[in-house]
Amino acid sequence: MGVAGEQCGDVLFMEPGGLRDLLRGLAGESALLSPTRTEHGFDLIRVEPGEAAVDPPWNGARTIPPLKGLWFRPAAVVARSTPETSGAGLDPAPIAVYGARACDLQGLAILDRVLRDHVFREPVYCASRERNLIISGDCTEPAESCFCTLLGGLPHPTAGFDLNLAPVSGGYVVEVGSARGRALVGQHTGRFAPASSEQVEERDRARQQVEERVRRQNERFATREPFERAIEKNLKTRIWGEVAATCVECGACNLACPTCHCFQLQDAAPSGAPLRFSLWDSCISAGHARMAGGGTPRLQLTERFKNHYYHKFVSFPRNWGVTACTGCGRCIDVCPGRIDKRSVLLQLETRWIPSEVAEVE
Ligand code: SF4
Ligand code: SF4
Repeated sequence: MGVAGEQCGDVLFMEPGGLRDLLRGLAGESALLSPTRTEHGFDLIRVEPGEAAVDPPWNGARTIPPLKGLWFRPAAVVARSTPETSGAGLDPAPIAVYGARACDLQGLAILDRVLRDHVFREPVYCASRERNLIISGDCTEPAESCFCTLLGGLPHPTAGFDLNLAPVSGGYVVEVGSARGRALVGQHTGRFAPASSEQVEERDRARQQVEERVRRQNERFATREPFERAIEKNLKTRIWGEVAATCVECGACNLACPTCHCFQLQDAAPSGAPLRFSLWDSCISAGHARMAGGGTPRLQLTERFKNHYYHKFVSFPRNWGVTACTGCGRCIDVCPGRIDKRSVLLQLETRWIPSEVAEVE
């Protein structure tokens, strides 16, 4: 049964065959990125037009790489020296993403605040965000490192999507989250039907179970105080040196993080004409805070490590009204030093010794 004229927030039902057709159609119109299972977990792979490998019944957690690289490029030309090439790169191809998770969408909302909705509007980011379509999905198999609930998040999207899919018996409950999502439904009315109350109840029961599972697996990391307080009361204690002891300064935690958005500018002329590039940066690296003349306020790794936590859980929320961590757990998965943010935050709360403040001073 087809539907027409849905408003944002409508709840519909779609069978797997309908989703497969929808994704095949999108792959022909835009660059469609879809999670694909690899030996290490889910990677984000481009689906070629006509490819039959789109696998709609995806039941997993977030992908290994964050989605941010689709809009906030790891390396991008931001200025050119010749007038004939100065505007190149500002007309990005439309991107469709299937399978984004709640923590991905929260990370994207943070990048939007910094790169789009503030005084400075990053042109390539803004242009590509306008031309994207996001079909997100409920988490059904959270990873052990997922801790969104410790930060007040949920393992299912509540905002930031065009369509959201939640698997139920025989298909998906589809939530329409934007005018663009509504337009897509309008173009494919035959593939959607109104969701029944039983289907919505089944979705809500599954959501509750997954949320409980994430809460349970993080019970041992729960703190009595907000993370902000645990960090602030330790600004002068030795704990930072101990929790950073296995950090090898690789920066993987920054690169994998959906909210980290620091970049550096470098000039190069790979094919003759000078170009200016922006490149992702890492606040853990020694050169991150270096100023003209070579001085840096954070010469020691422990200072940089502390700053990483201070920025995410103290200064960013004060300046932007939201914590710069979604609890996606990617930084835990990629860290070669086996540093678990949840454990660091718990230690900051439980191991604090007031006398240390005087000692370090
Ligand atoms: S991923 Fe781990 S080892 Fe690498 S910089 Fe981050 S905390 Fe240090
Ligand atoms: S700090 Fe770690 S858990 Fe938080 S959003 Fe970044 S990668 Fe995810």
